Amino acid sequence: MRAVDIILSKRDGRTLARDEIRFFVDGVTAGTLPDYQASALLMAILLRGMTPQETAWLTDAMVHSGIRVDLREIPGAKVDKHSTGGVGDKTSLILAPLAAACGVPVPMMSGRGLGHTGGTLDKLEAIPGFRTNLSLAEAKAQVQKIGCALIGQTAEIAPADRKLYALRDVTATVPCRPLMAASIMSKKMAEGISGLVLDVKVGNGAFMKTEAEGRELAELMIQVARGLDKDCVALLTDMNQPLGRTVGNALEVIEAFEALRGKGPEDFITLCRELAAEMLVFGQAANTVDVGRAMYDELIASGAALEKMREIITAQAGEPRVLDDYSLLPTARHERKVPARRSGYVQAIDTEAIGRASMLLGAGRLRLDSKIDLSVGLTVEARIGDHVDESTPLALMHFNDAVLVDEAGAVIMQAYRIGAERTEPPALIKDVLR
Ligand code: URA
Repeated sequence: MRAVDIILSKRDGRTLARDEIRFFVDGVTAGTLPDYQASALLMAILLRGMTPQETAWLTDAMVHSGIRVDLREIPGAKVDKHSTGGVGDKTSLILAPLAAACGVPVPMMSGRGLGHTGGTLDKLEAIPGFRTNLSLAEAKAQVQKIGCALIGQTAEIAPADRKLYALRDVTATVPCRPLMAASIMSKKMAEGISGLVLDVKVGNGAFMKTEAEGRELAELMIQVARGLDKDCVALLTDMNQPLGRTVGNALEVIEAFEALRGKGPEDFITLCRELAAEMLVFGQAANTVDVGRAMYDELIASGAALEKMREIITAQAGEPRVLDDYSLLPTARHERKVPARRSGYVQAIDTEAIGRASMLLGAGRLRLDSKIDLSVGLTVEARIGDHVDESTPLALMHFNDAVLVDEAGAVIMQAYRIGAERTEPPALIKDVLR
């Protein structure tokens, strides 16, 4: 079998055979398939698509590129949540400690920023000292002891995905349903959980731009989960504006810590509450989603979720005082407002552009080997439906390096559509697929 023939086959729109997909994934895992051939095939898949059967084979090959964690000795139904990627999405930082505070074990394995979207791992690494690179044995012991570990994908879990994820990030091959489904599900199916809550983002800041595309991706992932006998629910949620008010790693960590104190923007808190309620049901801590919502309120009001976060940070060698003193987090040296160009109502925000502006300031990777600046990003000051004028900032940029700040400011300004008519903000939760 030759890689070039597989690329050619997909380039011309043919369905790949199971052993061809295996050959590709094995080659990526072993490092025998060069990046240029892997990238070419990724692009061919993006352009030509894959059938649900090919997607299932790809997922299976990626799961089997590594090991499957066995958490059976830890009592209780283990759950996790995964988002398909958005701008300002920091819900994992609330959900993991909250579910664990309720006795639901959460072995959460997260990723880094991808394209214009942020990643939980990068956010966690804004906490001084925080180790995301726990070994599987360390993570398992921590879940056993305190109910939660927040880690990155280890070398043993779906290593093919790890390599492909990094390649996709820099070859514009992220927004592709079969690749996303296989990427997300291969990691999640390998981590030893029994229930998975999916947050499928739809809108101009998501990889799935339309609700129809998001629905297809969600159905594909639910199908994969069901085939592997796992509980799975998918919330289709809006990404036509950033979630919450902050975009950028340390800035988002602060917003998450505030949410653990019950404070913060309504959209962000509402989404955390809905996702958490589903996790608590899968974790058998709540009989119904309604009970789950009430438990969320209780765990926030009592401070139990915040205290669990403190335990997790301490267990992973992070500085727990950051929870009370945000100045211990990386802080950008400069701030600059981006004013509105005209007065009127914010009618739409190009959310992908907002994510790109944050990347330009240094919060995301432009190349495989880019180092990110954990302190920089944006505070979103104006959202859809808000009234603005030339004196109102649309956003506040936090930055260290002035080189790209003018460009980032222009991108933000262009991202806002402002008009005379008020537009209703989009509904946050579009549907729940069970
Ligand atoms: N998250 C993942 O883990 N993989 C993707 O492809 C997209 C989002």
